[in-house]
Amino acid sequence: MSLTLPLLGPGRDAPGAGPATTPAAPLPGVLDVPADALRAWLAARGQPPMRANQIRRQILANGATSFDAMSDLPKPLRADLATSFAVFSTRVERHLHAPSDDTHKLVLRLADDRMIECVLIRDGGRATACVSTQVGCGMGCVFCASGLNGVVRNLTAGEIVEQLVRLRNLVGANPERPRRGASANHPVADAPGSPGRLTHVVVMGMGEPLANLDNLLAALAVAGDRGGLDIGQRHVTISTVGLPAKIRRLADAGKQYHLAVSLHAPTDALRTRIVPTNTGTGIPAILEAADEFYAKTGRQVTYECVVLGGLNDGPTRAAELARLLAGRKAHVNLIPWNDVDGLPYRRPAEADLRNLVDTLRRAGVSVKVRKRKGAEIDAACGQLRRKAEQEAATGGEPAAPAPG
Ligand code: SF4
Repeated sequence: MSLTLPLLGPGRDAPGAGPATTPAAPLPGVLDVPADALRAWLAARGQPPMRANQIRRQILANGATSFDAMSDLPKPLRADLATSFAVFSTRVERHLHAPSDDTHKLVLRLADDRMIECVLIRDGGRATACVSTQVGCGMGCVFCASGLNGVVRNLTAGEIVEQLVRLRNLVGANPERPRRGASANHPVADAPGSPGRLTHVVVMGMGEPLANLDNLLAALAVAGDRGGLDIGQRHVTISTVGLPAKIRRLADAGKQYHLAVSLHAPTDALRTRIVPTNTGTGIPAILEAADEFYAKTGRQVTYECVVLGGLNDGPTRAAELARLLAGRKAHVNLIPWNDVDGLPYRRPAEADLRNLVDTLRRAGVSVKVRKRKGAEIDAACGQLRRKAEQEAATGGEPAAPAPG
């Protein structure tokens, strides 16, 4: 995480924001309560089933952050809900904002005191949420702090949705804006004063998304609900290091999500140095599954390559990558590495980057160098969470620098 980002400090609902209280068992987040269970809870209080939808709509569409703010619910019910559930099971532990490009990064503390990161990236009319799917990560990519301690657990669907809602709530109130599917004949607009909207989701935060596919698909179904966050399937990108069986399952899900495979290297020997789990899969099996994904969904696959100076950016690597992807319906995103303290990798030379682009284009492969917007946050993925965890473990004392 760039040190140029001003720390906004703990969120208003972060620990330490109010008077000391006796710790109580956390209430379950209402977004993780199955609809049937919530309806049964409501029925036991003489409330109709439609209240369950009202509650979810208040959070997902209206931006309510407390039960008390749900003005279409009877007041006694709001009070009752607040004793049994939490609107959010997460708390904002850190909130950083980069004014230069209006990027926000949140560290969220989960009910079990684990921490995750999520990011809001603004670009023109776009508001893109980058969300995590696991606590930690089992893939161990050598340039990433998220995988340093392995994977701890999968996030629940509700915890994934909460990241989206919290980031959406940072977009700002929208005076009035057409919703997806609006037309001159059928204008559908958000009500004035309703929350702004996320336009895109990239599942590229902490964790391997396909290792938590069931919960991710459940969360994305909620994200796509037109009465809620209303994020179109084609505006969702799922990034993976490449788990062939799960890529096939995703293809069979019948959705229009975009798939991004973190390739990073054109040969198994080099890729295994960068992504250790490659030993168990290998590039050919990943490409085969990705080709099947394209054949089934019609969605072109993106291959992501973090370009590490002196490691995967030379002319030989460029030619190997071009040979590997030539003839495939694929797009390549090159992500130049940004120097991070404590890691031995360096930014690639401009000439090597240019040669990579030219070599791929000559082979007929579509390629882009990813814009640097929010790059300082990407480069240090997972570091802010580690720092927050270390500070929490040392009672708020500044932690020693993280190794990655
Ligand atoms: S880059 Fe992604 S897949 Fe690799 S260790 Fe980090 S979070 Fe896991």
